[in-house]
Amino acid sequence: MTDTATAITIDRTLCRGCGNCMGLAGDTCITMAGHAAAPVSEIPARLLDSLLDVCPAHAISVAGQAGAAAIALPAHAAAPAMPPALAAYFAKMLGGGVCPPAADVQDIAWSWLGSFLGIAAVAFVNFNLLGGTDLLLLIGSFGASAVLIYGAIKSPLAQPRNLLGGHVISALIGVAAWQLLGPVPWLAAAVAVSTAIAAMHATRTLHPPGGATALIAVIGSGKVHALGYMYAFVPVGLGAVIMLAIALAVNNIPQGRRYPDFWF
Ligand code: SF4
Repeated sequence: MTDTATAITIDRTLCRGCGNCMGLAGDTCITMAGHAAAPVSEIPARLLDSLLDVCPAHAISVAGQAGAAAIALPAHAAAPAMPPALAAYFAKMLGGGVCPPAADVQDIAWSWLGSFLGIAAVAFVNFNLLGGTDLLLLIGSFGASAVLIYGAIKSPLAQPRNLLGGHVISALIGVAAWQLLGPVPWLAAAVAVSTAIAAMHATRTLHPPGGATALIAVIGSGKVHALGYMYAFVPVGLGAVIMLAIALAVNNIPQGRRYPDFWF
């Protein structure tokens, strides 16, 4: 049985870069260009409805037709007595997309293997090679990085630039916050995380675990504080490099899996 193909367009100004569309249609049909998705080829017509559903930003439309942004809000989103601006505000909370489909068993298995090996490598060095020193290599935020670089490898937030840049930049900011504001730890913690997020945005290295890396620099143990700016290089930089090496090795073994999508 043959399936017809449909050309789509994606509005880059609306796209949030979540990757749902690429996960559904595959990277032969849709790719990530920077922080937004872009069509590569026509998509099978049978996927069209699901594709429109999985996009939380209504950024996808059929080529030649009105953009999905023009789709009317659900009728129940606009109560008659409510001012339109308020109705639109609450309508956003309804979502509008659907939960993406579950990963298949093979993907789950490769995600498990990658994360097992990545964390095992860092933890082995931490406990067996650095045990008698003042250094450490395993920090909590690497667990969150493992979710991205082994379990969500198509996400723009999981790419090497984000993994390395996000962690190192956040670590430097976290250490600076601790050294400048340490006597007021609640303020140091808030400044560390918020400034790390802003810096990652500005440098296109947004990596959510970076927020935890910055926070650890403030609320971590005396051993972490004693490292000073070395914290950004060991454990943070070196640990991220080891996890990246494992991600490159494992994620590219299966035929249908490829990592990274981009380097810089
Ligand atoms: S699903 Fe929508 S918001 Fe997410 S990457 Fe695709 S076009 Fe962008």
